[in-house]
Amino acid sequence: MKMEKKAFLEVKHLKKYFPVRNSIGISQVTVKAVDDVTFTLNEGETFCLVGESGCGKSTVGRTILRLTEPTDGEVRFQGEDIFQYDKKELHTVRKDMQMVFQDPFSSLNPRKRIGSILEEPLKIHKIGTSKERTEKVMNLLERVGLQRDQYYRFPYEFSGGQRQRIGLARALSMNPELIICDEPVSALDVSTQSQILNLLLEIQQDLQLTYLFISHDLSVVRHIGDRIGVMYLGKIVESAPTDALFETPKHPYTKALLSAIPIPDPQIEREKIQLRGEIPSPLNPPAGCPFHTRCPFVMDVCKKSVPETREVGQGHLVSCHLYTEENDYAKVVDN
Ligand code: SF4
Repeated sequence: MKMEKKAFLEVKHLKKYFPVRNSIGISQVTVKAVDDVTFTLNEGETFCLVGESGCGKSTVGRTILRLTEPTDGEVRFQGEDIFQYDKKELHTVRKDMQMVFQDPFSSLNPRKRIGSILEEPLKIHKIGTSKERTEKVMNLLERVGLQRDQYYRFPYEFSGGQRQRIGLARALSMNPELIICDEPVSALDVSTQSQILNLLLEIQQDLQLTYLFISHDLSVVRHIGDRIGVMYLGKIVESAPTDALFETPKHPYTKALLSAIPIPDPQIEREKIQLRGEIPSPLNPPAGCPFHTRCPFVMDVCKKSVPETREVGQGHLVSCHLYTEENDYAKVVDN
């Protein structure tokens, strides 16, 4: 029987705007990298954010951890509003919220041995004696599928997949409850990708971890996600349990993304939805629905008003004027 899951991380109306300055440093325009993003992450589940490059999904992850300061909004971790935390409180909570990056190599000091790199966060948080830290790191190396004696190796001696295992070991060293995985497999070849994804799933089950998983790849999020949020120009335009999103997508953008996934069976043909034009610049996003410049179903109302988020099925939310109050299954969600 599946355990009842409680709200673990609540992200409400999150905004992150970046000022763009001219050559003399005066801010002229603002890039709305994240613009009113709301979602909930339940304990023990994996919520995936998916979208094309530049849609703001990585900025959501970084802003939740306050690696970049938010412009507005609220993030509650286990009920506590962490945007109100001072430096000391933030330092403490960061033990529970770790991040795994796309390219762990860039954050591994090439002159240090892996063991010493992995022990660093334990030292910073004053965890254990020197002997205990070494033992813990060796156990972690084993836990992520490496060998204890690789403790003494340097970063350049590891392959891409092994480095990602090291990135995961570093995140696990703090015994976190939440891990934000930012494109953790996108730099890897397909077979290494599936090894790392399976490792993430195995570790999640063993340690009861919660993941926010960020990726541009729908096949990857289908493999790992319990629920998926589709982002476009800084907004979540549709979110749903994984099966519902793949079987009954509602938003035209989601439908277009799904139609572009190749089917490995040549007998099956899928109608490909061609989108018009490029993603608009976030410096000058369109009024109304952000997708209206490319949507095959655009209506007049789409150019003037931002669609409300409506529930169209259990846990299935969509922001699109095609789903109106006249449809008895669509009700406005009060965030
Ligand atoms: Fe297309 Fe209009 Fe729906 Fe936007 S609101 S996705 S433009 S139909």
